[in-house]
Amino acid sequence: MDVSPPSTKRVAPAERPPINPAGPSRVLLAAPRGYCAGVDRAVETVEHALDLYGEPVYVRKEIVHNKHVVEQLQRRGAIFVEETAEIPEGEKVVFSAHGVAPSVHENAAKRQLRTIDATCPLVTKVHVEARKFAEQGYTVILIGHEGHEEVEGTMGEAPANTVLVQTEAEVETLEVADPDRTAYITQTTLSVDETGVIIEALKKKFPKITGPKTDDICYATTNRQMAVKDLARKCELVLVIGSINSSNSNRLVEVAREHGARSHLIDNHLQVDEAWLNGVKTVGITSGASAPEELVERLVTYFRDRGASEVSELRTVDEDVRFMLPSEIRRDLAAASG
Ligand code: SF4
Repeated sequence: MDVSPPSTKRVAPAERPPINPAGPSRVLLAAPRGYCAGVDRAVETVEHALDLYGEPVYVRKEIVHNKHVVEQLQRRGAIFVEETAEIPEGEKVVFSAHGVAPSVHENAAKRQLRTIDATCPLVTKVHVEARKFAEQGYTVILIGHEGHEEVEGTMGEAPANTVLVQTEAEVETLEVADPDRTAYITQTTLSVDETGVIIEALKKKFPKITGPKTDDICYATTNRQMAVKDLARKCELVLVIGSINSSNSNRLVEVAREHGARSHLIDNHLQVDEAWLNGVKTVGITSGASAPEELVERLVTYFRDRGASEVSELRTVDEDVRFMLPSEIRRDLAAASG
């Protein structure tokens, strides 16, 4: 266990809220938590684009699923739109970490937009698999959540050959053109355990089904779920910092609950309900892959100010993954530095 406490900003004593004697005396932080390499890259991409090209820089959809991050970038001059049709011709647009369907690239080209693609390389990997399986004549079974941007983008690679499956029950009723020619792929931010169950059901139903060489659920999702399992066993309450539309954050809440803790998803410390804290001795904190660390720090401060005297970290696995910035940004950064 790494016991180094995070740096926290203290509020002036006069502003401090009263100590809740029934609140937790101990705060345990999951590690790893928060930003993954794909989110880091996507946020840096927009920041560099603003520095290099100036305002406006358009971003199709939320660059990552976090309200706080989106608002910060908006303040710096990024303009978030739902579709490329909203962007004036010839302007610059960044595609989000969740990836886009080929049709989005085509529409952007028609409008002569200058595109910077911040799709996470691990999402691109799934797109490549979808295309490859479809070209080989397989029905592609995508395990994922309907309406999620990543799912829309992946399905767009081979819409006529792809079917979406969300639950084990849906496997039962699934019908495909040729049961001997099926392949599965998955959204990157699903529950590892639930997805395993769905894959097993698919293998039972389609014994010849094929799949990706390595898991599609990404390292960051897997590691954060592993860490929250450990955390949930040691805490009565686990708070997950993340936005409501963040798939991986919602999964962390589910995993914490499945492993014995009460758990809530919150955007920030202002959403903590004091009633949750009654009788809690140890509160666990983690954050989704798109939630910045400063939100964790503010939550730790919130608990310190209410009497928590021990803050430590529960490290489950070390991460050192980094992705290179998109080629357009690397090229223009190199040109700018001369
Ligand atoms: S959660 Fe995984 S797939 Fe999504 S951006 Fe992060 S590393 Fe990439």
